[in-house]
Amino acid sequence: MKLKIEISEKDLEKIIDILNFVGRKTIDEIILELLNNEIYTSDILFLLLQKLSRDEKIISNANEIQKNELFSEEYKRELIEYAKNKLNKLTKKIFLTSLEISKFFQCQRRFFLEKVVHSKQKKEQKSYEGEVFHKSISEFIKNYNKYSYNLDILTSLVSENILEKYRGKVRISNDDVRKMLFSIDSLIKRLNLKYIVSEPLLVSIKYGIIGTPDIIAITQDNEILPIEIKTNVKRIKRGLKVQLAGEAFVVEAYFRKEIREVMLLSLNNRRIFKVKITDDDRKLILNLLRSIKKSLFLRKIPPTSSLPNFRRVVCPYCHVKEVCDFIEEIGKTIKTEMFKKNQ
Ligand code: SF4
Repeated sequence: MKLKIEISEKDLEKIIDILNFVGRKTIDEIILELLNNEIYTSDILFLLLQKLSRDEKIISNANEIQKNELFSEEYKRELIEYAKNKLNKLTKKIFLTSLEISKFFQCQRRFFLEKVVHSKQKKEQKSYEGEVFHKSISEFIKNYNKYSYNLDILTSLVSENILEKYRGKVRISNDDVRKMLFSIDSLIKRLNLKYIVSEPLLVSIKYGIIGTPDIIAITQDNEILPIEIKTNVKRIKRGLKVQLAGEAFVVEAYFRKEIREVMLLSLNNRRIFKVKITDDDRKLILNLLRSIKKSLFLRKIPPTSSLPNFRRVVCPYCHVKEVCDFIEEIGKTIKTEMFKKNQ
């Protein structure tokens, strides 16, 4: 959870440089340039486009911008000051990640203890296996366009490099990592993707949501496809579905395009899940965002999870279970004391 996000002047200058062209560009092309320049929000772009349109610096239709001259240095300065002013007002708010939204959905108390009061957490010993696969995929995709003609070299370089960093911590072999990277390559080819980027940080200033999809892919039909990678998923449980819908929500806000589906790759059992994103999922994310803010305002310890079977499906994986159990014990003790007093 963040209470403010920062956008540097350098990033504002980059966005203005992207907009400083003569000719025609589609919004899709401009957004891809933002992504390639690691600008994590497209909201500023749309704020600036509104100003450019009001100042008659561009002619725009549904998905295309026409611009007839370059900006003067003075006008660039005006754009930067305009964006800074707007952002000062818009960026001081609560920003939540899709994982945090999913945690709140599963159990309000867990969210409160972990994210708001930062209670002591008890985590099992960390396993680095998932991290090795994630980092390998990320590095593989970053270099994919440059070296995909020689997959033997690319997969070897990536696996050696990542495994060296985790030497002594994992029991994964070079072959395991390479096999997994080859399967990612065949997926890219099978889906006939025209663009692919790994782990971009995306922020929707408007909705106060942050996401880092493992992969964003664009198909030949210009469909945006977020792809999530997990180590071992057997089925899509409700908490995971909310997390995927949250990721889709932030990607949708960035590209201003409907996301119909999120793909989930489960590495250990080599399964691919295609998870449909519906209007109900979008409504749920918006409702959860509102509920989280409301719950923070109430300033009291929330009740335990309201999901069916939560003691079996959520509590065993909870890192603040000890603190939660202690709160329950206190509650019971006070109740007994009060009961005795009233007798
Ligand atoms: S132990 Fe269960 S009910 Fe308590 S905070 Fe954790 S998930 Fe929620």
